[in-house]
Amino acid sequence: MLRLPEFTYVRPKSLKEAQRVLADLGPDAMAVAGGTDLYPKMKRGQFTPKHIVSLRFLSELRGIKPRAREGMWIGAGETLARVAGNPAVTKLFPALATAAGLVSTPQLRNVGTIGGNIFVDPRCNYYDQTFFWRQAAGFCLKKDGQICLVAPKSPRCVAVFSSDTVPVLCSLNALALLYGQGGLRSVPFDELYREDGIHFTTKGQDEVLKGILIPRASFGSRNIYLKLRRRGSFDFPILGVAAALGLSRDGVCTSAKVVLTGVASSPRVVPEAEQLVGKKVTQGDIEQVSEASTRVSHPLDNADLDYWYRKRMTKVYVARALGDLTNLNQP
Ligand SMILES: Cc1cc2nc3c(=O)[nH]c(=O)nc-3n(C[C@H](O)[C@H](O)[C@H](O)COP(=O)(O)OP(=O)(O)OC[C@H]3O[C@@H](n4cnc5c(N)ncnc54)[C@H](O)[C@@H]3O)c2cc1C
Ligand code: SF4
Repeated sequence: MLRLPEFTYVRPKSLKEAQRVLADLGPDAMAVAGGTDLYPKMKRGQFTPKHIVSLRFLSELRGIKPRAREGMWIGAGETLARVAGNPAVTKLFPALATAAGLVSTPQLRNVGTIGGNIFVDPRCNYYDQTFFWRQAAGFCLKKDGQICLVAPKSPRCVAVFSSDTVPVLCSLNALALLYGQGGLRSVPFDELYREDGIHFTTKGQDEVLKGILIPRASFGSRNIYLKLRRRGSFDFPILGVAAALGLSRDGVCTSAKVVLTGVASSPRVVPEAEQLVGKKVTQGDIEQVSEASTRVSHPLDNADLDYWYRKRMTKVYVARALGDLTNLNQP
């Protein structure tokens, strides 16, 4: 049995206090929400914080408000189950409800939060192992080692960005509301990540995600999330496709965004999707975008199933997503 190592547990009473404690304790401290990603990684020696700062009981991180002035507000501390089951989320952003509802298992979704899903640690078959396994393999760049075992010549870790909800939030042009030393700042989800399997986020160490804002401009968009994984019952995505399309009454595309997960160290936007704007989308247009999506999809040999299969499936899933949104998939 794997046991948790020793650590001190801090339970702040407010968001302000949580941020201050994280800033005071520095890199030895980590925030915890549901703990479904963090605690197993501590047991396996992947994370070794000396202090854990709990966000679990902070009321400021709660609530789903569809009619907030600037859009829909979702508290970072809301569980995935509550996001997936919320009637307003289901109606306006079915892609988000689907993505949250496809994370792992019901038990985990009842505890795991959307905030934790946004900062879930990038994954790798050579890293998501016990300490003893990694020791036998000689460790790697991401923890305790010197080289990347997947790409030994790579100067950086190429672990896979594996959040289900983030590509959807990117496709809806959502904002992350981060609380730090200078107060609250809003960061577009497109700018929250780096192509780096270790330092994957631009969030500061002491910054706490208070909530998410989906702007009013995204209300009314058609949106969808498709997930590829080995087991339908529970598994991380080895490819996820989020797509959001605005369509006018006469069927002209007014906005288009397609974002991938599970195929690089950060969520990947498919730039060619923008070419759909101003058109009545045809099967040929969809084929062009889906073909182009393989150019930003870079799966490697460090996740489940063959990397070449995942790359080929990228265009299949993008075509399916856009076909569903435009009703062109109907026979
Ligand atoms: C068996 C298993 C299967 C899984 N399957 C999936 C899957 O299919 N898809 C998927 O996306 N994930 C999956 N996960 C990963 C994880 O459970 C989820 O991503 C979950 O949403 C994490 O939320 P949490 O509240 O438990 O995060 P925690 O474990 O508490 O935290 C995760 C990270 O986020 C940071 N964090 C949490 N909240 C905040 C905040 N408000 N502000 C700043 N930082 C914060 C923590 O410091 C930590 O670094 C799986 C995990 C397990 C164990
Ligand atoms: S990609 Fe390389 S450095 Fe990163 S976790 Fe995997 S083996 Fe380690």
